[in-house]
Amino acid sequence: MAPPKFRVAICGGGIGGLTLAATLGRYGNTPVDIYESATEIGTIGAGISVWRRTWEVMQRLGLQEEMDKRNIPIPREGKSRACTHIYKHIIDVISSFAVPILLCRRADNPVEGKDLFQLIAPYAAIPLHRMHLIDLLKSVLPENCTIHTSKRLTSYTHAGDNTTVLHFDDGSTATTNVLVGADGIRSVVRMQLGAEVLESGRLPKELQSPTVLQQAIEPKWTGTIVYRSLIKPDKVRADHPLWKSTGFCYSGKMKHIIVYPISNGAFINFLAFYTVPDGEGTPYEGKWMRDAPKEEVLDAFQGWEPDVQELLEALDPVVSHWALHAMGSVPFAGEGRVAILGDSMHAMTTHLGAGAGQAMEDSYLLGRLLSHSSTTLNNVPAVMRIYENLRLVPANKTVAISRELGLMYELNGPEYNGEEPVGDDVLQRWREAIYKRWEAYWQGHPEDDWKIAEDKLQQVTEKK
Ligand SMILES: Cc1cc2nc3c(=O)[nH]c(=O)nc-3n(C[C@H](O)[C@H](O)[C@H](O)COP(=O)(O)OP(=O)(O)OC[C@H]3O[C@@H](n4cnc5c(N)ncnc54)[C@H](O)[C@@H]3O)c2cc1C
Repeated sequence: MAPPKFRVAICGGGIGGLTLAATLGRYGNTPVDIYESATEIGTIGAGISVWRRTWEVMQRLGLQEEMDKRNIPIPREGKSRACTHIYKHIIDVISSFAVPILLCRRADNPVEGKDLFQLIAPYAAIPLHRMHLIDLLKSVLPENCTIHTSKRLTSYTHAGDNTTVLHFDDGSTATTNVLVGADGIRSVVRMQLGAEVLESGRLPKELQSPTVLQQAIEPKWTGTIVYRSLIKPDKVRADHPLWKSTGFCYSGKMKHIIVYPISNGAFINFLAFYTVPDGEGTPYEGKWMRDAPKEEVLDAFQGWEPDVQELLEALDPVVSHWALHAMGSVPFAGEGRVAILGDSMHAMTTHLGAGAGQAMEDSYLLGRLLSHSSTTLNNVPAVMRIYENLRLVPANKTVAISRELGLMYELNGPEYNGEEPVGDDVLQRWREAIYKRWEAYWQGHPEDDWKIAEDKLQQVTEKK
């Protein structure tokens, strides 16, 4: 293999940062330094749904073998469709191997809720604990990847000689040729890169003011709070309806609960959401994440059906309270020798279970571009533009779809606003709207995107 042409520094050792390092190792020999602000590569978090596109990235990185070793099952194939009746759904599953991924049920009734529809997918997601995904990615890091913990980036400066100096909050510095911000929703790299993109003059007219741009690229509160926890399966009776579907969505007006088993059934992932009217886009006063007593969740979902109460009773005494923040449409992903990826670029709501998957797709594409034999330090700025052109639009579209799904689950969308009695035609439009958004996320393959990227890279090289 030819000697490395440049060094890459990744700021942030989360799912995106680790995937980029793994891709650089798999497809080349670029030396990589990961700078992580925490004292160790974090394993906190709960369930992550891995959909097919993400799974394809994982296979390319050699993770199937690692998953087999850990007995983590892979998704099944089948036919997809929105289906309205449980009975019909069971027949369908048996006859076509379709995969029931989400059973939506109106649950804000103290006596009994009612099924609204069953979402059937062409394949199931792999429900993983974030800890296990991090562990899998760590197992495929290349030898020339060095992880530096307790290194919080505060800023970077460009020195001559294609060198960028990284400044950390402990007063230390480090140098690199290419910097990638995988530093999550509160990204330092995104904010500084914004100023550089502004200077380049390529932003749309309405964003060509530092104040307007800063506001546009800051995370916003979605108006939603989510209580997050893991439930031990033995705390829920074996004939609880939860076990009938891969996932359950209990819906009510401005509230919903998502539950699904993860990591081979070792835990049930529990997410309970409520949305504050007109809260979206307003400043959130208080800590984004804190512990909360279980009683808060019980209060928020008082009067919901008995199956829900059983799940709430099974919660640990303390749960996690998150003020759900997301990005709008960040108008850039790379400039010069600096790029951003994952939540730094497109943090999104959790309703599509796509944030980690999108981070991994960014990392895979960027990693393959940077590792390619045609990429040199001189054409890295052109490579960044290819990355931006291919990833920005789909990532921002996913942010939008995920937001819309949240509105629909909480009976707060234009198709169905939760009023009763509801006509079949209204419910059907609502089901189709949900299905359409999921279906959009099931299309295509990251490998096809890579082929397009490689063609574009070829064109850049031929132009020279
Ligand atoms: C409740 C909830 C449920 C979710 N469910 C799903 C799901 O089912 N499926 C899915 O795909 N996604 C899901 N997500 C989203 C997913 O967790 C994120 O999109 C994903 O973790 C983003 O990865 P990342 O590497 O971009 O950022 P992160 O995982 O946030 O990693 C960023 C890293 O950078 C470090 N860092 C931050 N600032 C600095 C700095 N200045 N210097 C150095 N290091 C720094 C942080 O410590 C962290 O380790 C969920 C998110 C939430 C909140």
